[in-house]
Amino acid sequence: MSLRIAKDASGQYVHTPSMEAKKHKIASFGTRQRVENTAVVERFLRELVADIPPDKKTLEQRKYTFAAAEQLPLIENRDLIAIAQQWEQQGNPVPETLLQLLRKRSVRTISGVSPIGILTKPYPCPGKCVYCPTEDRMPKSYMSNQPAAARALRNKFHPYDQVINRLHALEDSGHPVSKLEVIVMGGTWSFLPKKYQSWYCKKIYDAANDDGRVHATHKSLSASQHANETAARKIIGLTLETRPDFITPKELYRMRQYGCTRIEIGVQTLDDTVQTLTKRGHKKAEVVRAMRLMKDYGFKVCWHLMPGLPGSTPEKDLQWLREVFEDPDCRPDFVKIYPCVVLETAELKQWWQEGRYQPYTDEQLIKLLLQFKTFVPPWTRVMRLMRDIPVTNILDGAKFSNLRQILRSQPEKLREIVGEQWYTAYQAERAEESGSWPCRCIRCREIGFQSFATAAEVPVPVLKRRSYSASGGTEEFLSFESEDEQHLFALLRLRRPSGKSPLLQWEGILGEGCALIREVHSYGSEIAVGDSAGVGQHRGLGTRLMHEAERLAREEWGCHTMTVIAGVGTRDYYRRFGYTLQHTYMVKRLLQSH
Ligand code: SF4
Repeated sequence: MSLRIAKDASGQYVHTPSMEAKKHKIASFGTRQRVENTAVVERFLRELVADIPPDKKTLEQRKYTFAAAEQLPLIENRDLIAIAQQWEQQGNPVPETLLQLLRKRSVRTISGVSPIGILTKPYPCPGKCVYCPTEDRMPKSYMSNQPAAARALRNKFHPYDQVINRLHALEDSGHPVSKLEVIVMGGTWSFLPKKYQSWYCKKIYDAANDDGRVHATHKSLSASQHANETAARKIIGLTLETRPDFITPKELYRMRQYGCTRIEIGVQTLDDTVQTLTKRGHKKAEVVRAMRLMKDYGFKVCWHLMPGLPGSTPEKDLQWLREVFEDPDCRPDFVKIYPCVVLETAELKQWWQEGRYQPYTDEQLIKLLLQFKTFVPPWTRVMRLMRDIPVTNILDGAKFSNLRQILRSQPEKLREIVGEQWYTAYQAERAEESGSWPCRCIRCREIGFQSFATAAEVPVPVLKRRSYSASGGTEEFLSFESEDEQHLFALLRLRRPSGKSPLLQWEGILGEGCALIREVHSYGSEIAVGDSAGVGQHRGLGTRLMHEAERLAREEWGCHTMTVIAGVGTRDYYRRFGYTLQHTYMVKRLLQSH
């Protein structure tokens, strides 16, 4: 059920009568015909459960047929979801496959975690990057008609209001909000005043802690975090966006105080000449230095990459994109690809007008990205292939927002863009390599994105282990995957730190003899099967990975301590394994087995 609050005249958060009425409407399943039609909606939901539509299109057709037969208006998905939630409370859950069809955008929470993207206030950025847009009332690099930016503007960039509004929107469209990954965007986080940073993060936790009755408020950031450990809406991860040249031990220490678990850095390219030409202000050396610190302190790291920059060519881009994964000093855990485009308010517009810059054609870009996808390692997640920019803002450059879809499942469109000859050659090459989709990245293999008619069709997960060196340390990527490695059920990132990063107050938990878990993620409970029986066998994989990581660290590396960079909302989960909170990390002494 949605719990709503609003501000009263004094600025306090309360339930207003109108909000109470709205809450009641939702809880009591609406007004007018909705209340009258509850029994009909229940009957229709029963029909859907008995014969789950294979896709959203069929679901819509069934709704139209039902409405015509009953001579009623079309039943809305949120009404079906409200009934499904009532059934769930009565111990009669609706299959997840059907719920995913009913949710507005099932992709949002496919990994069981609801992302909440919010922006910081407009504030100067130390960067002078020529491709970056500038709008007066926006943080650097954001445009007011981007969805997240528009939401932030409506909420006057207040973190509390932004989070509350996103929670309501997610709940109204039937998404679970018990596990939240908050992503803070808006220029360079590290350049913001420290007092603002601390206030901002506290408000995020306060919003998640709010139970809808009273505006949750605690005396300090750590008190708000402590309350979130047991709140109904837990913040299981906090992502902050910054520049590599602002990463220092002190900065990372501060980020840990805020509960940050993942850092996104703008790298853009590994070509130093291009960085200089585009006035980026840092080079590859700063990225390498920052990577070691971030990984040695347990953070997950996402790189923003920008093919097609001035001074580059598709050939040069391909070369440095390979380097991203082949150079052990690089190797990010996640990447977001934002091909360079010309925007109205960026300095690059002038270069373009003067003929000094021309973005890649659709054909050049798609060919480049298809090649890039073939060498992404199985331990990296490609989170985005395009930036979420309204096409009206793009003066020149690629305008696709559904690039992944085109690459993966729209062969006709792909053929049209890259040309018959190239497409045929590409397909022939793929056929030689078994013809399967070439990308082995995490996102392309997550089991939650695939549907199975029955539980019996779900492949059996087996334990896999991949070792690689990164930033002077050793990384073990442990996972449960199908035997053919096409389906990923769960993953864990284990690191043996380089031993070269300053330890600050973390001597006993990150130093000699300590192993570090940087991520645990299980997709087992989100497997979409028409017949929910048997899905339970895919649960508990995260626990098995934890045990394997502890065994490996203890027996193979001789480590005496395991440290987990846990999001505030996951601390209780690790307590179950015997971990205790020490200096913002969850820590456990490993006993040597005999
Ligand atoms: S550092 Fe980022 S936000 Fe700042 S100017 Fe460069 S691209 Fe824009």
